[in-house]
Formats: sequence, C-alpha cells, structure tokens
Amino acid sequence: MESFFLIKPGEILLKKDNQQEFIRRLRQQIHLRMAGITHNIESFPGRFFITVDENDRDRTIFVLSHCPGLNGFSEAVKCAKKTDDILAAAVLVASKAAGLGKTSFKVETRRSDKSFPLGSYEMSALAGETVLAATPSLRVDVHNPAFTINIEIRERAYVYGFPEDGPRGLPTGSSGKGLLLLSGGIDSPVAGYMMAKRGLLLECIYFHAYPYTSDEARKKVERLATRLAAWTGSLRLWVIPFTETQMAIKKNAEPEASTMMLRTAMMEAADKVAHRINAKAIITGESLGQVASQTVENLAITQSATGLPVLRPLIGIDKEDTVKTAQRIGTYEISILPYEDCCVLFSPKHPLLKPPRGKSIEAYASLGLSPLIDESIAAASVQRYGYKDVVSEYGH
Ligand code: ATP
Ligand code: MG
Repeated sequence: MESFFLIKPGEILLKKDNQQEFIRRLRQQIHLRMAGITHNIESFPGRFFITVDENDRDRTIFVLSHCPGLNGFSEAVKCAKKTDDILAAAVLVASKAAGLGKTSFKVETRRSDKSFPLGSYEMSALAGETVLAATPSLRVDVHNPAFTINIEIRERAYVYGFPEDGPRGLPTGSSGKGLLLLSGGIDSPVAGYMMAKRGLLLECIYFHAYPYTSDEARKKVERLATRLAAWTGSLRLWVIPFTETQMAIKKNAEPEASTMMLRTAMMEAADKVAHRINAKAIITGESLGQVASQTVENLAITQSATGLPVLRPLIGIDKEDTVKTAQRIGTYEISILPYEDCCVLFSPKHPLLKPPRGKSIEAYASLGLSPLIDESIAAASVQRYGYKDVVSEYGH
C-alpha cells in the first residue's frame, strides 16, 4: 500500500521572479532527507505531493515536519475530478476519523478548477450529506468541528482530514550559509534553528577546552548538532581545541576582561572559519543583558573581530520563550544534561559590564592571539551529520 501526502509550501509562494528556484530547492531538500527511501515527488502550482510506501509513512511525516519552507502537509486521498469519486474519498476520510473517536465535522472545498460542475458550497453540502448518511456516529458542526474534511479540486481532486504543521520559513540553503557558534547550552541550538528556518544552511563551530571542558560536554554538542541537522538536512560541526588560547587569555588579560577577550577570540576564529567555508554570516545565541558578556558594550567589542554580519535571533527573546522553543524542537532535553560548558577557572567574579570599546579592542590586539587561533583551526576536527545520524539520534 502507498501513502500519499499533500504538501503546502509557504512563503515561497509569495516570491515572484525566483519562485522556481525556491521550488527547486524545496524539492531537492525533501529528496535529500528521503535518501534511501523510494519516493515520488510531484509539484504543481501551489502544491507538492509525495508518494511513499506505507511502511515509510512515519519517516515521511518526520521529514515533512522538519523541512523549512513547508507550511503544512496532510496524508490525503487523491482521485479523479468526478463527484462520485470525491464523495467516496470523503466517506473514507470520515470513517477513519470516526474510528479515532471523532464525533463532529465540517467540509471545506477549494475549487481552483472552475470548470468543475459543482460550486465549492454545493460540493461541501453534498459531501456533508453523504458522509452523514454513511457514518451515523458523526454529526455536522460548522463552528467547532472535531475535524474538517478538506476537498481540493485542482489538476486532480484531493480529500484530506488531518493537516499537520510544517516549520514554515524558507527552504534550507536559499539564504546561503551561516556559521553557528554552538555551545552545549539552551540558547545557541535555538538560535541555529531560527536561522535555519530563514533558509540558512548551517555549519556549527564549538570551542572545546579539554580537559577543562569534558568529553561529555563535547558529546552533548555533537548530539545537539545532530538534532539541528533534522532541520537542515545535514550539517558539519567544527570542534576547535581552544585550551591554549584560553590559557593565554587567563595569563595575559585583565581578569575582569577575560570573558570578553575569550568571546572576542571565539569571534575571530569563527570569522576565519566562516571565510574558509564561504559562510556569509555568523550566528550566536546571545540575548541582550542575559549575562555580563551580553551587554551592548560587550557585543560591540566581540563584533569588532569580524566584518561579517553577526545574527543574534534571540537578542530580544526572553529565556522562558527560548526554553519553550528548545522543548518543542527537541534540543532542551540534551542542553540540560549536566555537563555545563562553563569553566569557573575562566570566569571572573566581576566581569566588566561596560568596557570602553576602543581600549578593549586595543587590549585584545595586544594579546597577540592570532597565531594560536590559526593553530587551533588547523587542529580542528570536522564531522558531517546527515539524515542517517538524525534517524539514529531520534531512534526511528
Ligand atoms: P548558550 O545556551 O548558547 O550556551 P549562554 O547563555 O550559556 O547560551 P554564553 O555562554 O554567554 O551564553 O554564550 C553566548 C553565545 O556564545 C552562545 O549562545 C554561543 O553562541 C556562543 N558560545 C559560548 N560558548 C561557546 C563555545 N564553547 N563554543 C561555541 N560557541 C560558544
Ligand atoms: Mg553557554
């Protein structure tokens, strides 16, 4: 048996000149994530369709609910544009819903083929009557139905009952590539997810200060990267050994300025990696005022280490809301595992809240960290995570 899904693309439909390019990307992204699974994608103006074997239904639902650029999707029955066939499909969808314990419904018809003999209203009314006659446990409730039978009359007819949400946003890669500073915390994976939804293909960079940060902390970041790959199809994680750079900062910087110097060094390294991989932006999980290193004054200094735009999608978001998003996207449970990527050794008791910009940038330059940073990048380990890893991370 086959499973057939109707897919509603989102914002790409608003694009005029380059809509075809967006559609091509979206198809390509679905293909990529369905690799190894027999599937067939069709696209018509305003709708995509995918057909898979029934056994691959769950995987398909996972892919569609994680693929940016999709507003929604639904398993559907497709049929010829004949009234009797449409009515039979409506009864099928209704009996499935009744089997799930649903008791009330309404019918909505969208008819883009105006040559179809029945109008939308007439089609809905006729389908409603037919369903009522065939399924006695159901009643009509147009205001608050337990489910809606949707009928679309287009190049063919489609009938479906249970639409699911897609991530919305833009297809992966349509905005280019961004480099995410990924730590083991709650914020940065959410920041990565938000920018992935806006069409950025992600690569991630993690600064590892072994043995001050443990291998468990690194494993956490690897799992977070895999969970993010569910939203981007695949991604690479750069693990940069940063102990030497951190030790140099500890030794030579003013203690109150050390966190800021470390953040600036991370930004310098990220800038270098971003140029190497042709990333057009750097992404962080910073939120204004959350900690001392995230005041506007401190952001101005870390920003000085790169000419690329630094995207901080959480800048105006409260922690509670970030936590909710992290829970929804499946990163929270990993982020709160107890291997915090913070090292007391490097955190001053009284970090500077309003460091003077010019002097701080000079002080950073006088640390002369660039050769150490270059060495750390040369010693980086780079790992790609694809859908195979995603599937084993999520356990299906
Ligand atoms: P997070 O949940 O992202 O760890 P946080 O509140 O702990 O947030 P900070 O530790 O101040 O924030 O870090 C601010 C941002 O700097 C992080 O969101 C992340 O983008 C980046 N960052 C911090 N530490 C690292 C690291 N070890 N490797 C890569 N990026 C890092
Ligand atoms: Mg952190």
